[in-house]
Amino acid sequence: MGVVGVQGAVSEHLEMLAKANAEGVWVRKKEQLNSIDGLVIPGGESTAISKLMSESNLFEKVKEMGTSGTPVFGTCAGLIMLAKKGDAQVEKTGTRLLELMDVEVNRNAFGRQRESFEAELEVDGVGKFPCVFIRAPAITKAFGECKQLATYNKYIVAAQERNLLATAFHPELTQDTRMHKLFLGMCKR
Ligand code: GLN
Repeated sequence: MGVVGVQGAVSEHLEMLAKANAEGVWVRKKEQLNSIDGLVIPGGESTAISKLMSESNLFEKVKEMGTSGTPVFGTCAGLIMLAKKGDAQVEKTGTRLLELMDVEVNRNAFGRQRESFEAELEVDGVGKFPCVFIRAPAITKAFGECKQLATYNKYIVAAQERNLLATAFHPELTQDTRMHKLFLGMCKR
């Protein structure tokens, strides 16, 4: 399993993958993408991740792989990267998205008042899960073949579309490997 390692919570995902009995690779170069069965895009700062992915030539290759069926799991900023449509802030900062998943996102949906919080939410296919939100985005609209897996208030906070999985929260910051195992299941298929 590759973890896009240009910025953000990379080592936490590698630890979770190891705990879930998968071999993780810290991906810095495009060539490393040739030998992976699935890819995680971590949380962090979407503008930085986007820019650094372009500069390291990962952007186009990841987009190509996501389009042709390689499983990709985006968490938090990674969810923003997967979206087909961003919000005004994404536009204003000129953040280029991978545009793989049929969702529209609000980049900082929960605002400053709620920088970070935790909520136990029912996630389809997983059950009750401890969801950690940090300056979290949310899905404001899911269309096409995208299925919502979890909601919080008026927002969709976990979704799946074919080979793509995304959460607005950070499963890698918990002790619970079930979201990662759900993704690994998608990689075996
Ligand atoms: N809201 C952040 C962004 O715009 C994402 C925060 C996170 O990944 N924890 O990139």
